Amino acid sequence: MQVTLIAYTPDPELVIAAAARLSASPSSTTKIMEKMSPQRVDSLLAHLLASGHLSPFEHASFTLAIDGISRATSHQLVRHRIASYTQQSQRYVPFTQFHYVTPETIASDPELLVRYQQAVAAAHQLYSQMLDAGIPAEDARFILPNAAATSLVMTMNARELMHVCAQRLCLRAQWEIVQLFEKVKIEVQKVAPRIGAELKPKCYHMGYCDEQESCGLMPTLG
Ligand SMILES: Cc1cc2nc3c(=O)[nH]c(=O)nc-3n(C[C@H](O)[C@H](O)[C@H](O)COP(=O)(O)OP(=O)(O)OC[C@H]3O[C@@H](n4cnc5c(N)ncnc54)[C@H](O)[C@@H]3O)c2cc1C
Repeated sequence: MQVTLIAYTPDPELVIAAAARLSASPSSTTKIMEKMSPQRVDSLLAHLLASGHLSPFEHASFTLAIDGISRATSHQLVRHRIASYTQQSQRYVPFTQFHYVTPETIASDPELLVRYQQAVAAAHQLYSQMLDAGIPAEDARFILPNAAATSLVMTMNARELMHVCAQRLCLRAQWEIVQLFEKVKIEVQKVAPRIGAELKPKCYHMGYCDEQESCGLMPTLG
């Protein structure tokens, strides 16, 4: 899996802080931005987060190229609706080379791993034979497994990123989507360290775990 930040709002944290400041200032946003110190950006972001005033975080967006995740995980990802996605099409791209993801639980069982690889290879062989027989890729793809690797571009604003990470960095979430958002966090942190630091599982925000089975990081209420 590879995750690369390919574009983002310039000065994302300054933009958020300036937008928030504007709501209580007679000055213009550009003048606020010129004068605002990094310390003031820090304190404003902290205040916004503490008070739950999160709409200014919608002014900063991050565009990430995501390669080599399984279709099982991309399906979970696109359930998050406050974002834009463009995914490599299984209708238009014929997969002569077939890349797929192998979960560690399967990879660590030599016997099952062989059977897994054989099943995937058999599915791909039939897929290729169907393409050769003139079946359109949009139909031949029905035989491809959830393991199929996919590529997509995702654009998400900082508010939704915090929301999604609260859900998907929880260790009770599925391992591949946890790994995906760990990599997203690393990329965002490079250009927006304060926002990056807020990309954390929900238990860090709540101070307790609300999952039926806790990973043990935080106490449960029950
Ligand atoms: C561990 C885990 C297990 C899951 N298991 C399943 C499962 O078994 N089956 C399944 O179907 N899904 C499952 N999901 C997906 C889950 O139900 C959500 O669809 C997904 O996490 C998207 O999150 P969301 O709805 O908070 O928000 P997003 O789509 O990320 O939207 C962000 C927020 O915007 C608001 N919002 C967005 N759209 C609307 C709207 N139309 N109306 C009102 N408010 C809106 C809500 O406040 C929402 O929280 C699972 C998710 C997780 C994290």
